[in-house]
Amino acid sequence: MAEYDFIVVGGGISGLLSTLALAKKGKRVLVLEKSGHLGGVCRSYDVEGYQVDTGPHIITRLEHGPLKELMDEYFTTKPEFVPHGKYYVRMHGKLKPFPWNLTAWMGFDMLPITERMYLIKTLISVSHLFSSDPTLKEKSVQDLLGTGLTQDTKNFLDCMCGFMTGGAGMAETPVARFIDAEKYKTTSNGIFDKIMNVLFKEGAADQTYPVGGIQSITNSIISSIPEHMAEFKTGEEVKKIDPAGKTVSTSEDNYTADTIIYSGYASDLPKLVENLPSEYQAKLGKIQQVQSLTLWLGLKKKLFENQGSEIWVGPPHAWVVPTSNYDPNLAPPGHQLAGFGFLIPWESDVKTQQKNILESVYQSMPGVEENVEMTHFQNLVPEKAAWTVTSEFAQTKTPVENLYLVGTDTERKSMGITRASYSVKNLLNVLKEDGKI
Ligand SMILES: Cc1cc2nc3c(=O)[nH]c(=O)nc-3n(C[C@H](O)[C@H](O)[C@H](O)COP(=O)(O)OP(=O)(O)OC[C@H]3O[C@@H](n4cnc5c(N)ncnc54)[C@H](O)[C@@H]3O)c2cc1C
Repeated sequence: MAEYDFIVVGGGISGLLSTLALAKKGKRVLVLEKSGHLGGVCRSYDVEGYQVDTGPHIITRLEHGPLKELMDEYFTTKPEFVPHGKYYVRMHGKLKPFPWNLTAWMGFDMLPITERMYLIKTLISVSHLFSSDPTLKEKSVQDLLGTGLTQDTKNFLDCMCGFMTGGAGMAETPVARFIDAEKYKTTSNGIFDKIMNVLFKEGAADQTYPVGGIQSITNSIISSIPEHMAEFKTGEEVKKIDPAGKTVSTSEDNYTADTIIYSGYASDLPKLVENLPSEYQAKLGKIQQVQSLTLWLGLKKKLFENQGSEIWVGPPHAWVVPTSNYDPNLAPPGHQLAGFGFLIPWESDVKTQQKNILESVYQSMPGVEENVEMTHFQNLVPEKAAWTVTSEFAQTKTPVENLYLVGTDTERKSMGITRASYSVKNLLNVLKEDGKI
C-alpha cells in the first residue's frame, strides 16, 4: 500500500489549495516543495522593516470567483480583505482614473478622440460577433485594430495587453482575453444590465488586497488544513516522477502515493516523467512564460495619496501598488511601501534592466528619489503560461494514469491567484470524475 493517498509536487498556492481540499475530504497528502518555504509566488517577507510581497498583488473576482468559492467551502480561518479602490493611469506626467465605461472613456483625453471612438466601435462589434464568428478567437488585438494608430494609443494598448495576458503586446494578445474579462463585469445576462454596464459601470469593483500581505492567504490555507492529514517537506526538489510505480523521487528520498499532482511548470514535465507521448511533449513545449521585475521602494513619507493602484504607460510600462495604503503595518509608522511591477524580455540582462527601471521610476514621478530609504528587486515569473495567440496551455488530465496537473498553466481564465483557484476547481472536478475523491 502506498504511504500517501496523494503527493502534491510544489507548495505554491495551487498546490496548497489542492492539499487543503483533499485533506478536508479525508485524504492523506504529502507536499514536496523545492525551495525553503511554502507559498511559491504567493508569499511575503521582511526587507529592512518593510514587508514586501512576491510582486505587487491585487486579488480579483473576490465576490463571485473561484477563490471565494474555495474559501467558503474549505477555509477554517479566512484572510481579511480591504477594497482595492480605483485604477489610475499615469501618462506623460498626468494622472487620471482608468476609463472603465463609455462615459469615462469619452472623457479620457490622454488619447485622441478619433481613436477613442474607433476603439469603442471595434470593441462593441467584436463583443457582438464573438460568439457567432469562430475566426475571431484566433485574432490578436493588432489584427483587428491595425497598425495605423498614434504612438500614444499603441503604447496604451500595449500596456493594457501586457497586464491582461501576463506579458504579450498588441500583436500577440488574443481579442478573447478582453472578452473574457468583460464577461465578469456583470453576473446578469440581461440586455439592460449589459448596456448599463458598458455605459456606466466601474470595473474591478470586487478587487481587494489582503490585510497582512499576500502571505496571509497562504497562512490561512495552511492553518485550515486538518492536523495530521498533510505533511510538508520543503527544500526537497522532485527529480523523478514514476506514475505507474506510484513513486516520486526527490534529492533526499523516494515517496509513494496512489495519485500524484504536479503543480510546477508543466513544460518541465518531460524532464521528470519518462516516456511521455511525443505529441504531449510537443504541446507542453509550446507553453510560453514571461518574466517580471518588481521594484519595491520604502519611502520616508507617503507620496501615493490615492486608495488604489497606478498603471504607468511607458515604455517601460509599470503597475504600481502602494501596499501600505491598504495595511499601514507593512511599513514603519509614517512611511510608505510601494511595489512597481514591470515585464521584461527573457533575453535581457537583469542588472541593466534594474538600473533602467530605477531611472524610469525617478523620472516618471519627481519627488520619489529623495525619499527612498529601501530598494529591493525581485525577478519572478508571474504566470506559468502567458495567454498569447500562439501559446499553449496544459490540461489537468495528463495522458498518464495517476498523474494530474494543477496551476496557472492548466487554465486560461483570468489571471494569477484567481486563475490558480480555477485550476484547483478543475482538478477537484476531474479527480471526482475519475473516482479518486
Ligand atoms: C510580479 C507579480 C505580480 C503578480 N500580481 C498578481 C496579482 O495582482 N493578482 C494575482 O491574483 N496574482 C498575481 N500574481 C500571480 C500569482 O502570484 C501566481 O499566479 C500564483 O501565486 C501562482 O501559483 P502556483 O501555485 O500556480 O505557482 P507557483 O507559486 O509558481 O508554485 C509552484 C511551486 O512549485 C515548486 N516547484 C516547482 N518545481 C518543483 C519540483 N520539481 N519539486 C518541488 N517543488 C517544485 C516551486 O518552487 C513553487 O513553490 C503575480 C505574480 C508576480 C510574480
